[in-house]
Amino acid sequence: MVNSSDPAVPERLDDVAAALAEGMPRTRQALDDLVRIPSISAAHHDPEPVRRSAEATAAILREAGLAGVRLLEVEGAHPYVYGERMDAGDGAPTVLLYAHHDVQPVATADRWRVPPFEPTEIDGRLFGRGSADDKAGVMVHVAAVRAWLDARGGLPVNVKVIVEGEEEIGSPHLASFFAEYADTLRADVIVLTDVLNWKVGWPGLTYSLRGVAMLDVRVRALEQPIHSGMWGGPVPDALTGLMRLVGTLHDERGVPAVDGFFDGVRPLTAEERSALAELGGDADELRRDAGMLPGVGWIGDPSRSILERMWMLPTITPIGVAAPSIEESAPTLVAEASARISVRLAPGQDPERIVAHVTDHLVRHAPWGMQVTVDPGVAVAAWITDPRGPAFDAARAAMGAAFGKAPALIGCGGTIPFVQPFSDAFGGAPCLLTGIEDPSTNAHGEDESLHLGDFEKACLSEAFLFAELVGRLEATNHRSET
Ligand SMILES: [Zn+2]
Repeated sequence: MVNSSDPAVPERLDDVAAALAEGMPRTRQALDDLVRIPSISAAHHDPEPVRRSAEATAAILREAGLAGVRLLEVEGAHPYVYGERMDAGDGAPTVLLYAHHDVQPVATADRWRVPPFEPTEIDGRLFGRGSADDKAGVMVHVAAVRAWLDARGGLPVNVKVIVEGEEEIGSPHLASFFAEYADTLRADVIVLTDVLNWKVGWPGLTYSLRGVAMLDVRVRALEQPIHSGMWGGPVPDALTGLMRLVGTLHDERGVPAVDGFFDGVRPLTAEERSALAELGGDADELRRDAGMLPGVGWIGDPSRSILERMWMLPTITPIGVAAPSIEESAPTLVAEASARISVRLAPGQDPERIVAHVTDHLVRHAPWGMQVTVDPGVAVAAWITDPRGPAFDAARAAMGAAFGKAPALIGCGGTIPFVQPFSDAFGGAPCLLTGIEDPSTNAHGEDESLHLGDFEKACLSEAFLFAELVGRLEATNHRSET
């Protein structure tokens, strides 16, 4: 079902909207160019394309008319890209626009309907890795800035653009990045264009994100693989051990069964509960969007709504296994096997505490006395904000005008590590999380795609937002010294 409406352009912004529409072919061309670069930030991938995409992004920012464009580097990190336009004056608020130029790997490229790094338009959607997450986010900022410069030669607000290069691996260098560049980024409000709209044609304003933690668990049973015929029966193998161990993470209903796993979860307010109920979330539609096969049931606490389970509760999932593949398997008892476990943390939860609970659980449930070791990886807390106040009013007005429909206030089950440190560094500056994905986007999965109609509306919405923030948001002087 499509809830599409036409934009309701405020008359005073006619010229900006027209410039934006006129610039769309260039915007699209630049997006295609970015999607062609396989900027996979994950370990064991060539870092060169990530640098190339940083340089391509810098060129696009420069071409759009941003000043001071450069790569921001910290030791060991993939490069960030920065540019600014600070000529609206000290009386105007400063807006930091965030997106990221790195992408997720494509483990199963052969199962895509198009080659993942060849942007291809099919039925109004642009397919390709990063077409939505988050190269479209980069281009939303570029298109909005350029529309103002083309129409008026200047912007009504001061703008800083920051495009990260390692969001998809949990932003491991954020702390050193902020230590070095906090002053450069200082702003009155941040706009992060990297999440979902509620539906095609129906924008979303996201006020919560789940956190994430990763753990690798290794199960060892034998000094080396041994003949399964000779020894099978009395001698246990590590693969069975690992599978049993992973199986203990949930109960029969698929509810996480780790002691203490729900510690700290912030209860919903009555207001939120009724907002979630009102939003509903059509279970059949959600099933289709997720691609759940016929007969596959929902998991999790049935007394909580599906949206609450997706946005506001923690979850635990194995996402990878290291064991002999079928091709390399031999009739042996497997000596050792590992799994990577992903935990999504709910607002209110302390990542270290939950990681400790999961580690404890895994070690305590070691099957048949096997050796279980746990290696924790990156951990990022969830984020939640009170979606009220002038910045949110401005966003509601801008999105309402651009989409012809008021934004739904939504949560997001995913993680953007940048949000909380930014807000902390700048005295709780409001964070506006706007959408570029829709339920069919399949970010991180196969056949990632961008709805091109909504992409244009997202660009328009951000162009309007600049105007809406003026007069609503108090300005402080955020000129950087650099
Ligand atoms: Zn993203």
